[in-house]
Parts: sequence; C-alpha cells; structure tokens
Amino acid sequence: MKYFSTNRHLAGGYIPTHTFSEALLMGIAPDAGLFMPETLPHFSAEQLQTMRGKTYAQIATEVLFPFVEGQMSKDDLAAIAADAYGFDIPLENIDKNFWVARLDQGATASFKDFAARFMARATRYFLPAQQKLTVLVATSGDTGSAIGAAFQGIEGVKVYILYPQREVSFVQEQQLIRIGGNVQALAIDGKFDDCQNIVKQAFADKELTSLNLSSANSINVGRVLPQAVYYFYLWQKLTEHTDEAINFVVPSGNLGNSLGAELARRMGLPVERLVIATNANRAVPDFLKNGIYKKISPSVAAVSNAMNVGNPSNLARYFELYGGTLDKDGYTHQAPDIAQMREHLLSVAISDTETVETIKYFYKKYACVLEPHGAVGAAAYRKFQDKLAARKTILLETAHPAKFPEIVMQELGFAPPVPKALQAFLQNPAHKIELANEYKALKNILLA
Ligand SMILES: *Cc1c(COP(=O)(O)O)cnc(C)c1O
Repeated sequence: MKYFSTNRHLAGGYIPTHTFSEALLMGIAPDAGLFMPETLPHFSAEQLQTMRGKTYAQIATEVLFPFVEGQMSKDDLAAIAADAYGFDIPLENIDKNFWVARLDQGATASFKDFAARFMARATRYFLPAQQKLTVLVATSGDTGSAIGAAFQGIEGVKVYILYPQREVSFVQEQQLIRIGGNVQALAIDGKFDDCQNIVKQAFADKELTSLNLSSANSINVGRVLPQAVYYFYLWQKLTEHTDEAINFVVPSGNLGNSLGAELARRMGLPVERLVIATNANRAVPDFLKNGIYKKISPSVAAVSNAMNVGNPSNLARYFELYGGTLDKDGYTHQAPDIAQMREHLLSVAISDTETVETIKYFYKKYACVLEPHGAVGAAAYRKFQDKLAARKTILLETAHPAKFPEIVMQELGFAPPVPKALQAFLQNPAHKIELANEYKALKNILLA
C-alpha cells in the first residue's frame, strides 16, 4: 500500500508516494496535504461474515492489515492490536431501533484512545533501533491525555504535552499531569492557539533537528485508519445478516472519527447513512446544504469543547474521496460530487441550548447519561429520526460523562461515577511544569 497527498493536483503539489511507515512518521505531506491510501481493501460478504464473534483486536488485525502489508507481518500486527485493545465497547439499547455505543472504556475515557494506542505502538515498531523520538502535542483537552497515556513507558520516546493552563477542565488537567514517566505536562500561560504556535516554532527550529521531533497530529494516517475498525466491530455485534445496513451518528469536530465510517463503507461495510453532528461550528452542515465550503474563523466556543473546530482538517480527505480538492486553508480547488455526498451523509449543527436539553431529555426518557459531545449526536439523531428509522442506528458516545462532571451535575443533579480506568489513572502522582507563553521557555526544556 502506498500513500499520496491530497494536494497532489495543485500547482507545486507533491507527487511521490510513501509507505505506511513513512506517512506515519512524517505525519503530513511536504506540500501540507494529508496522506491518503492509494486504494482501499474490499471486504466481501463472506469476509464480513467471518468477523462475527471475533474480538476487537482480531477485527482490528483484519481491517488494518492491508494498510501495512509489506511492512509488517500479520502476526506482528495482531500482537500490536492485542496489546492496544483490551477494553470493550458497551452497546446500550435506547429505543426500538436505536443504540448508544460507548467508546469511553480506554485509559483516558474518550474515543481518542482507540487511535492513540495503535499509533503509539506502530510508531515504536517502525522507529529504527537506537533512534530517539520526541513527540510534541498541543492540546485543548482529550488529545493530549490520549497520546500521553498511549506513549507512556514506550522506550526511546519522550512526550511533551502543551496545554493552556486556564482553559482545560479540572478532570482534563488531572489526566494530563498524572501520566508521568516519559510524559511531561507543560502548563502554558496562554491559550490553545499559543500552545499550537509554540509547537510549530519548535518544528521549524533547525537547532532541534537532533531531537527527531514528531507531532502525533490528529490528521496522521496512523490515527485515522484505526478509527475505521470500531464501525466493523459494532456492525457485527448488532446485525444478523451480512447485507444488513445500519446508520451511524457521529459527534464531529475535525471529522477524523466520521471519516473512519466513510472509509469502512468504502471497504464494503453496509453503512446506509452517516450523520455528522456538529456544534455551532457549522461549516460542514452548511457545506452539504449550500454546496459551497466556507470555513468558520475564528471557531466558536461551545460546551462540546473537543468539537470546536471551524475548519475541519479531514474534510480534505472527504473531498478527495468524492472527487474534489480542498486545501488546508479551506479553499476549494475542485468541487466534489455534492449529490453523491448528500446520498450518504447527513449533517446538522446543534446549539448549546439544544445540547444541554438533550442531556436532560435522554436521562428523563431513557435513563441514559450523556456528556455534551454525545448529546450533540443524540440531538442530531432526533432531527433525522424520519430518515433513519427504517434501519438500526448507532450513536457513538465519544467521551465518558465523568470527564464532564460539572455539566452533568448541573443538568441532572448528580455526578457520574468515575470509571475504573480513569480512577486508577487519577491515583498517580501529579507533576507539571508551568511555562511562560514563549517559545524560548519550551526550547530550554527540550535542550536541557
Ligand atoms: C476529539 C473529540 C471529538 C471530535 O472528533 P473528530 O474526529 O475531531 O471529529 C468528539 N468528541 C470528543 C469527546 C472528542 O474528544
């Protein structure tokens, strides 16, 4: 399998293709495009049938092998998957044809654990012996803890997580500062954008070349591909017939999660409708409605804070799959087939008021506890109920309600119980370094 850049059609676009390990370790193509696999494997009805009853790790091995074939043996991939995925996905029946899948049983209690744990192990596998790697992550919350926990204890790798000191929630900060070992939390006296700028300066600094910096960025193929796996897993858990198509509702920000469903469908998984649910950052629903893409800048601060994305990076990959080209600044060079997109994709923006009302409604009506991101999806489900009702529908709950105790307490009057994985994690000693909002401060730490 080779990987190309989504910008290859642009003037000065980057034509050469790369192997999986190159795309993984480079993160982003030299022309700032996103790496895409040249072809997608196709799973026949019989192959889908053989996935029934398999463990998550076994299904991950089947789905991901074609993407690493030639560079990693199937046995090595199976070992990585078994090591990465020891937790389940609870599937709660809510109503006649409607289920909630909780992707919150990993070490840091958000769906980002699925991608981060695979990526960390694949990185270790492909990192040449003796070579050291320094991972820098700027985070507004969930990404930093998922990446930090996934790389914890991995030899040869040091991780620095930069987060805005006053802009993460209490639980989110506890998760960042209690990983320890080779993972160092850096509390920046600034905003999320400042953290991102500091990280960018580090990547541009030639004096740091010897540190071998890597970004573990959310658009890395090593993070996107494993997000196709849980759609296969959930489908075989819920369906009885090989040709039974189901719908998925995905709370979305940067569109990496929903892209996993789009890729799964193109690999032969019977997915009927894919609902992309956003908060007030409504660039995607507006695009599907008007056919013209306009990014939202600056992004809007909504209660579902991990989805506060005004110009979703992975939209460039959707454009590519539907025959278009979109650059990182949100400029359309070639329009995709919008009619075809509308056939498969539904999208709607949900306000903060609707989000908190949905948390209350789902608890009252179904005794189902949602956090703000899942509630955005649940509200979107209700809006499209007519279009979805003929099939089984699964809503992905992307984080554990215990990550957002303040809002759950405010809406439901109780604090959600903290899951075991998170409890264990919160027992670790806390350690953070507070840093001034300037690049020099980070550089001193890195060179120390
Ligand atoms: C990151 C995140 C999202 C958004 O996922 P994308 O892949 O960026 O669309 C949704 N919910 C939670 C809890 C997240 O952490």
